[in-house]
Amino acid sequence: MTIQLDATPKAPHAEHDHSICVAEALARAELCCGESGARLTPLRRRVLEVLADSHVPLGAYELVERLGASGEKTPPMSVYRALDFLVGEGLAHRVESRNAYIACGREHAADDVVVFLICDDCGLTTELASHAMGRDLAWAARSAGFSPRASVVEIPGLCAPCAEHRRGPAAGKDR
Ligand SMILES: [Zn+2]
Ligand SMILES: [Zn+2]
Ligand SMILES: [Zn+2]
Repeated sequence: MTIQLDATPKAPHAEHDHSICVAEALARAELCCGESGARLTPLRRRVLEVLADSHVPLGAYELVERLGASGEKTPPMSVYRALDFLVGEGLAHRVESRNAYIACGREHAADDVVVFLICDDCGLTTELASHAMGRDLAWAARSAGFSPRASVVEIPGLCAPCAEHRRGPAAGKDR
């Protein structure tokens, strides 16, 4: 099976204008909620903003702390509810292996397979999506009489800078 990706993956470790990542996530949320009629309350929006501000998945308590650091006292239950909402709307994903959440980094259909490339060292997480893989896996699951709850693949490994770092200054580049 060849993995057909729907778009070239963004490399979040590369230099980029990070404010665009946050702005895009919020714009997509406004659009998506406008279409579905779901309410993007100030808290839900704020939680998404904090998530989108990190390319490393954040745990619920980390989120509560970050909100607290900017003077917002938010009960953990409210943050959990906001996260449930964001995940339900496809605006954020749960990264099971890290027990954490990340803002959805790209536009994709709800039944596409989402692949997370997760760095062991720095936690940097890149999201890929594949429609073709989603279709193939859905077919394979159906053939096995299985009803999947989610179509998420988490792949641990090393991001480019961490791989470089592990190789050490002696290897690779001659300086
Ligand atoms: Zn970014
Ligand atoms: Zn996504
Ligand atoms: Zn890394």
